[in-house]
Amino acid sequence: MERILIIEDEMELVRVLRSYLEKAGYSVIHATRGDEGLARWEADKPDLVLLDLNLPGIDGLDIARQMRKKSDIPILMLTARVDELDRLIGLELGADDYISKPFSPREVVARVKAVLRRTGSSVRPEAKITQIGELSIDMDAHQVKLGGVELELTPTEFSLLAALAAQPGRVFSRLQLLEYSQGTAYEGYERTIDAHIKNLRAKIEPDSHNPQYIETVFGVGYRFHKE
Ligand code: CA
Repeated sequence: MERILIIEDEMELVRVLRSYLEKAGYSVIHATRGDEGLARWEADKPDLVLLDLNLPGIDGLDIARQMRKKSDIPILMLTARVDELDRLIGLELGADDYISKPFSPREVVARVKAVLRRTGSSVRPEAKITQIGELSIDMDAHQVKLGGVELELTPTEFSLLAALAAQPGRVFSRLQLLEYSQGTAYEGYERTIDAHIKNLRAKIEPDSHNPQYIETVFGVGYRFHKE
């Protein structure tokens, strides 16, 4: 059963959409806030996202950008800001389609069907797994194992590890890592990366004082060990 994630703060709208989508044979999960929506997306791996533009927490544009960095999941934007539509489509935002509010729930179901058919989400590619030493990183399932044992990483830690491990030997600045992990990078916040790296090392490194996977490049940033 294909799973739809609705990120929307108007509860009446969610109730109606849920009922129509479930009748059409989809399974529906829901988040009210933007940040909660991103967490549900990471945790529940839906097949399509219905994304409201104006949300508490993180706004819909930022959510779409963050999702696009890591996945090609179909995104259908819901918006009442009709004046924003051109910009939405024009910017390489990565939304697959948009629906302007107010809309009929039938229209939404039809668009969901069309987008899923077009993107063929039911045909999934082979899982992409990176194996380095004892560490195995499943990029699609967002799963990390050390010596066969699954590790509990936060979404930020996973994003950092995935970015570093995808290009072993490449040196990343803190600002670049911030951008990979948060979707945006503000100068002055680079040091938060050090805290995330420290936590990540505590989870993946046999000896976090003598790291063998994530190396510090003094004065620059970090890189993943190249064998
Ligand atoms: Ca809203």
